[in-house]
Amino acid sequence: MKILIVEDDTNIIEILRVALSEKYYLVEVATDGKKGLEQALATAYDLIVLDVSLSIIDGISICQQLRNQGCCIPILLLTEKDNIAKTITGLDAGADDYVLEPFNLEELLARIRALLRRGMISTTPIIQFGALLLDPRCGQISYQGKILPLTAKEYALLELLLRNSQRIFSQSSLLDHLWSLNEIPSENTVRAHIKSLRSKLRKAGAKADLIETVYGFGYRLNTKELEIGNVQPKIMGTEKPIHSIKADEESDDRLLPTTDSAIEQRIKSQLAGVWERYQDKYSDRLAIIKQAVKYLLENRLTEDLRQQAQQQAHTLAGSLGTFGFDNATCLCQNIETILKSTETLGQTQAEQIQMLLLELQKILEQNPTLIPPQSDVQATYLNQEYRLLIVDDDLELAQQVAAEATIAGIETVVAESISAARLAIAHSRPDVVLLDLCFPQSPEDGFTLLAELTALHPPIPVLVFTSQDSFTERVKVARMGGKGFLQKPVFPSEIMEAIATILQQSNTSSAKLLIVDDDPQILDILHTILQPWGFTLTLLDDPQNFWDTLEEFIPDMLILDLEMPNFSGIDLCQVVRNDPHWSNLPILFLSAHRDTQIVQRVFAAGADDYVTKPIVEPELLARVLCRLERSQIIRKFAEIDALTGITNRRKSAQELTRLLHLAERQNQPFYFAVLDLDRFKYINDQYGHDAGDQVLSQLGKLLKQSFRQEDVVARWGGEEFVIGLYGITQQQVVKRLNHLLDSLRCLEFTTSNQENFTVTISAGVAEYPKDGHDVQTLYRAADAALYQAKAAGRDQIFLSAMN
Ligand code: GH3
Ligand code: MG
Ligand code: MG
Ligand code: MG
Repeated sequence: MKILIVEDDTNIIEILRVALSEKYYLVEVATDGKKGLEQALATAYDLIVLDVSLSIIDGISICQQLRNQGCCIPILLLTEKDNIAKTITGLDAGADDYVLEPFNLEELLARIRALLRRGMISTTPIIQFGALLLDPRCGQISYQGKILPLTAKEYALLELLLRNSQRIFSQSSLLDHLWSLNEIPSENTVRAHIKSLRSKLRKAGAKADLIETVYGFGYRLNTKELEIGNVQPKIMGTEKPIHSIKADEESDDRLLPTTDSAIEQRIKSQLAGVWERYQDKYSDRLAIIKQAVKYLLENRLTEDLRQQAQQQAHTLAGSLGTFGFDNATCLCQNIETILKSTETLGQTQAEQIQMLLLELQKILEQNPTLIPPQSDVQATYLNQEYRLLIVDDDLELAQQVAAEATIAGIETVVAESISAARLAIAHSRPDVVLLDLCFPQSPEDGFTLLAELTALHPPIPVLVFTSQDSFTERVKVARMGGKGFLQKPVFPSEIMEAIATILQQSNTSSAKLLIVDDDPQILDILHTILQPWGFTLTLLDDPQNFWDTLEEFIPDMLILDLEMPNFSGIDLCQVVRNDPHWSNLPILFLSAHRDTQIVQRVFAAGADDYVTKPIVEPELLARVLCRLERSQIIRKFAEIDALTGITNRRKSAQELTRLLHLAERQNQPFYFAVLDLDRFKYINDQYGHDAGDQVLSQLGKLLKQSFRQEDVVARWGGEEFVIGLYGITQQQVVKRLNHLLDSLRCLEFTTSNQENFTVTISAGVAEYPKDGHDVQTLYRAADAALYQAKAAGRDQIFLSAMN
């Protein structure tokens, strides 16, 4: 486990360094806020210990900026007794826990352990995987009761695998997690450590492949270990395996998926559903091959039919394995090879294929080796509306909020009790939950449900609203991973604002994948596998619509089939790479081909990764996650302005150009606004540069809240911002900007000397095509309008048309 300490007090740094290293944590230190933020964004830490009062950027701003940028590493605040108010701000800003200085070392270590196992239901911190047992309190790992004599690095490595037993770790991600930047290890180092760990495990009686090599991917714990001991991975202290939750008398067997394995379980059952839906299609594919064999036997097989049959065998090989028909893949590949061979086909080949078809038939007549389908689980395609679940026994308030939410286009369900909420969630997963804490009629309170929801993968964001307002409650909610805390009485509009913020946050943290495959079955399978992990998917079965979809959806990753009608995956990949805007987009190929020449062509076209069909779910997931992780880290550095948390100028110029092209193609207007803080130099002079920075940082947040996810919102430089809006009327643009001006006017800032002040902003708006055809001309027009707004007294919006 790798921990970053951001602290300017060298004494505290030394104490923490010694204490944490003793517990085998790998420690890195940043001595000021700026370095801390940079390091936190650049490296995969498991936890950050963050001093609240720091130089350059303070701890709270770091916390805000990390969370704004979608970073969800657990954060523990170190705070002085007279800084409680700041600590609350910190917890609201997304910190997970805090410790008061001077701190008790044991307490600090216990809190760190608690944060590191966040997301798991547990009362004590021991982790078990088969006969393997980790007790972080004494820093020991044992196998069948025998303590393993591990080095610090081996311990850390095994701990990482144990805490993420579903995940495959590549060598480079192990290096990222377990070695510090200045250690400069090579990939051989990982291999050497794995080798030594395996040997120690073997000596203690474990199977040689307990740490499994997933060829071409990396390492993970072998789930066979669980079968041998017939035990589930579990956290000690709970009697149940960790994927079970306390079932209510009302709830049935549709339990919430609380762990990775529960999600996998659900995916499997959904795949069975897909198989049911498409069984007929597979029969049709087989029928074509059968017909080809028949014609071959009768000596009248045409070249066209041979090709069709070969294509069908290829497709079947790709998808049958995914349903659990492992042998079927091999049989289909053999059929494909025979049909593809350059020799003239004759009776012998026909008979061979017949034999293979017979075997295939036998396999397909059995059910796939999957759990029976659940009727209530439906595959829903994305671009769906948001869903809100309100859990409150105060029906009147719940109805009021529901009415507001419905107006905002959010589908809302109200549950009067915790058990009713569980049923509602099992039926359809909400995007956000609004939760009351107090249910006097029931033995359970809101905290129970909060724990269940934050332990999900991915967690469901929860906003707590309650009439109990004590500091302890607030801290408890924040510690348990609640996303917000509102005290009743509260206006429905305030609740809606908080909900909108949460939805926006969760939106940026879930990656968007665009998948192009002409085989609808594969699309359905990918949807089933990937959707439960919180990805937003767009599925495309016709490459003709590729470019428009790419520009409208703006994916974080592309998954391409190799062979498709009209345009191949390689064509699409090259087109994407030829556009500088998309040159960093991760691209993963899917194909049933194993031919090295084809694989080489794919990489030469600019692909990042290649996955062979049949799709093996954990491998696909590991590859997708790994690619996203890497590209997100790189992107954060290159595209996000650190102070305001919004897009920087370089990146936004690309995005504006993209939206302009879209507007041009669709023959739609596009609006471009330039905003500039009023008399900002005066604010800096009067209240100090820190106060100025605080304004910029808050304004960044406000801008993000005020516009849609698809709008371009960027810091152009200094105290100047630009907004690009597409698919919206001029009236709506002005309304949004006015709302922003109003909100900013009401926002009160406080300096460290307790002086209060407010700021205002002016805006100029230009319109495509009326005021210009490119970003530069539109900028000039908007800037001229801004100048007029300033001249007219500031704190107002001018349209370029007013010239
Ligand atoms: P006007 O209403 O005409 O725009 O007046 P102004 O004072 O805002 O305009 P001017 O361009 O004269 O001053 C801009 C100021 O913005 C000067 C500069 O110190 C401040 N500024 C620019 N970038 C930052 C920053 O990152 N942090 C802080 N605190 N101030 C900044
Ligand atoms: Mg300090
Ligand atoms: Mg200004
Ligand atoms: Mg300026």
